[in-house]
Amino acid sequence: METVVFQSTNGKSPSVDLRQALLAGQAPDRGLYLPARYPQLSAETIAGFSQKPYYEIAFQILRLYTAGIMEESALRTLCHDAYNFEVPLEPVYDRVHVLRLDRGPTASFKDFAARMMARWLGLFLGQSHQQLTILTATSGDTGSAVASAFHGVPGIRVLVLFPFAEVSRRQRLQMTTLGDNIRTIAVDGKFDDCQALVKRAFSDPSLASIPLSSANSINIGRLLPQSVYYFYAASRLAKPGEPIVFSVPSGNFGDMMGAVIARSMGLPIKRLVVPVNGNDAFPNFLASGNYQKIDPSRNCISNAMNVGHPSNLARLVAVFGGQMDETGCIHRPPDLMAMRRDLFSVTVSDDLTRSTIQEAWAKHRLLLEPHGAVGWQGFLQYIRQESFLDEPAAILETAHPAKFPDEIEKILKFVPEVPPALAALDHREERFDRLAVDYSAFRAYLRGHYG
Ligand SMILES: *Cc1c(COP(=O)(O)O)cnc(C)c1O
Repeated sequence: METVVFQSTNGKSPSVDLRQALLAGQAPDRGLYLPARYPQLSAETIAGFSQKPYYEIAFQILRLYTAGIMEESALRTLCHDAYNFEVPLEPVYDRVHVLRLDRGPTASFKDFAARMMARWLGLFLGQSHQQLTILTATSGDTGSAVASAFHGVPGIRVLVLFPFAEVSRRQRLQMTTLGDNIRTIAVDGKFDDCQALVKRAFSDPSLASIPLSSANSINIGRLLPQSVYYFYAASRLAKPGEPIVFSVPSGNFGDMMGAVIARSMGLPIKRLVVPVNGNDAFPNFLASGNYQKIDPSRNCISNAMNVGHPSNLARLVAVFGGQMDETGCIHRPPDLMAMRRDLFSVTVSDDLTRSTIQEAWAKHRLLLEPHGAVGWQGFLQYIRQESFLDEPAAILETAHPAKFPDEIEKILKFVPEVPPALAALDHREERFDRLAVDYSAFRAYLRGHYG
C-alpha cells in the first residue's frame, strides 16, 4: 500500500504524512490538512463489513491511512482497545434508524475520534521520546472527550480551559475528576475568551520552548476515525452498492466531514443532511453562495453546536473544488450546484428542537437530546421536500440524553436513565484551577506548570 499524504487547503505548505499532520494540527500556512488521494473501498468490501464488529471495521479503514507509518498489528490493537463500547443502530420506522454514538466513556460522539487520536499520538511520541502539551478550549464535550482519551497516555499532558458558568455540572466533573496528566482551568469568562487565550498561546514565540498541540477538529486525526461509523451503518442498513441517507447535526462540521471522507472513499451516499441550530451560516451559504459568519455565535440549547464560523468549512469547500481561508474568505468558489445536489441543510430553532424531542417521543418512543433532535428535524424536512424515501437512512444521535437531564425533564416530564460512567462521577473528587481572562496570567501558568 502507498502511504497517503496530506495537503493544506490553503495550498502553500508542503505535503506531510499522517504522523506530521497529527503532531502539527494546523498546516503552517494556516490551512487544514486533507488527504491528497482517497483509498477506495469496493461495494463488496463495504458489504462484507456487515458481519464485522466495529473495531475491526475501524482497523480495515484506518490501516489505509496508517500504511507505511505504523505496524498493522499495532493499529489493530489500538482499534480493539479504543472501541470497546456498543454502537447501537436503533430502528425507528421502515428503513429509518438512529445511530447512537453516545456509549463511549464521556457519552458523546467525540469519544470515537479522541480515543483514536490519543492512541496514535501516544504511539508516535513513545517512539521519539517527545513530550507534548495539548491545549484545548471547550464549551463542554470536546474537553471531556479529550481529557478522558488522553488520561494516562505517557508523553502527553493535557490542559483544558472551560468557561466556568457555561458548562453543565456533569460536563465539568468529566474533566475535573481525572487528575494525573490532566489539568483543568475554569475561566471567569465565556467560551470565546477561553478560545482566544489558547489561540494566543499557540502563536506566542515566548512559549516556543513548550511543545504545544491542539486536539480540536482542525486536526485530521479527529476526522479519519469519524469516517468509520458511516461505513458501519451503511454495511448494516443498505444492500451492496445501495446509497443511504445520513443526517448529521452540525456545529464545527467535523462530524459531517467524516461522511464526506467516506463518500470520497467509495461509500454511496444519496444525500448528506447537515442541519444546524441558530448558527445558520452554512444553510445561508448553500442557498445564496454568500458566506457570512455568525459573530458572536448564538447560544442555543444544542450548545456543542454553537459555532459561528465552522473551521471545517474550509475542507468542505476544498472537496467541492473551491478555496476558503481560515478567516472564512472565499478565494475560489466551490461548485455550488454539486454542493446542493449532495448536501441538504436547514436551521432548527430552539423551539423547534424542543417540539421535535416531544414529537419523536410521542410518535416513535424515540428518546432524543437537543443535538440529536436537530438531526432528526433536519431529516424530517429533507423527506418532506423529497416526498418519498426508498433508501435506508441513519440519523446520528451525538450525545446521551442523560447529559441534558433538565431540558429533557422539562419537555418529557421524566428524567433519562443515567449510564453508569456518568453516575459514577458524582462521587469523585474535583480539582481545577481558576483564572481571570488575562493572557499574561495564563502565560505565567503555562510557564510554571510546563516550562
Ligand atoms: C461537537 C458536537 C456536535 C457537533 O459536531 P461538529 O463536528 O462540531 O459538527 C454535535 N453534537 C454533540 C453532542 C457534540 O458534542
